[in-house]
Amino acid sequence: EAKRNDKRGWRAYDPSMTDQRIRESILADLLEHAIEAGQLSVHYQPIVDLATGRTVGVEALARWQHPDYGFVPPSEFVPIAERSNLIHAIGLHVLAEAAGQVRAWQARQHTDPLHLSVNLSPHQLLKAGIVTDIVAVLERTGLSPAHLTLEITETAIVDAERAAPILSEFRALGIRISIDDFGTGYSSLQYLLGLPIDGLKIDRAFVTQLDSTTRGAAVAEAVVRLGQILGLDTVAEGIESPAQVAELQLLGCTSGQGYLFSPPRPAAEIEDSLNLVPGQPVQ
Ligand code: C2E
Ligand code: MG
Ligand code: MG
Ligand code: MG
Repeated sequence: EAKRNDKRGWRAYDPSMTDQRIRESILADLLEHAIEAGQLSVHYQPIVDLATGRTVGVEALARWQHPDYGFVPPSEFVPIAERSNLIHAIGLHVLAEAAGQVRAWQARQHTDPLHLSVNLSPHQLLKAGIVTDIVAVLERTGLSPAHLTLEITETAIVDAERAAPILSEFRALGIRISIDDFGTGYSSLQYLLGLPIDGLKIDRAFVTQLDSTTRGAAVAEAVVRLGQILGLDTVAEGIESPAQVAELQLLGCTSGQGYLFSPPRPAAEIEDSLNLVPGQPVQ
């Protein structure tokens, strides 16, 4: 963390902070061409039904590999993309690629159709025309709106008055809305639960604490109960141990994802966990 202000409010010179600023402005420039240069790809993490162990969906996660800067994690480039307004184009690109991929997988399934979850950041949700843009991608790729979940963080709906009508439009189309990183934001439950939502994702922070502290377990349990009472899906994030699965099953948590099942990986590498009928391998 950068050095704090001194008594007069001047920021002390900190070379690492300067480097950080330079890096950020370079990355912002490079990100503008990342889509057309083919540097952005999508990794998929299975979402598993905790009762049956079956993969019921995948979460699409953006990956950026720059030829000189190497791998830049989404925790670094997503905030940059939000500040520079590029997040909209990037988000639609990720959705288009993932929707096409999931559509192809669905054609090779003999079970319930696989479900796709994509992340939608606060700026994306409030951008004019977002509903039309997403519908256009679904029409182009052939993915049914009923097979799409948009993951939205609590910060996106702090402005509930603006968010609610947009969420209702998605809902009317059959698209599902899930609150990502639930329990880590600052929105009031009152606001949150008055919105048209379908699911809660229990943040990894609480899942991690499941098998170590009773307080962490209490939060996870409270979220699952809340979801059950309100008729919402509950998805646990960041499951890394069988003990966590056992605990979540006891609580009645619907589904989960995490390194225990699979880290996010390229399409071709998660096919094995999808129980597909043999067919065209992913290019
Ligand atoms: P998120 O949506 O909460 O995604 C979950 C993050 O947890 C992912 O990090 C995933 O790789 C990681 N994860 C999953 N299972 C485990 C586990 O068992 N242990 C640990 N330690 N980590 C696990 P990732 O891929 O680095 O993404 C970080 C965040 O970046 C995402 O958080 C999401 O908010 C954002 N993001 C990623 N792709 C997109 C995108 O296409 N659009 C938008 N708007 N945001 C995105
Ligand atoms: Mg997510
Ligand atoms: Mg999350
Ligand atoms: Mg998270």
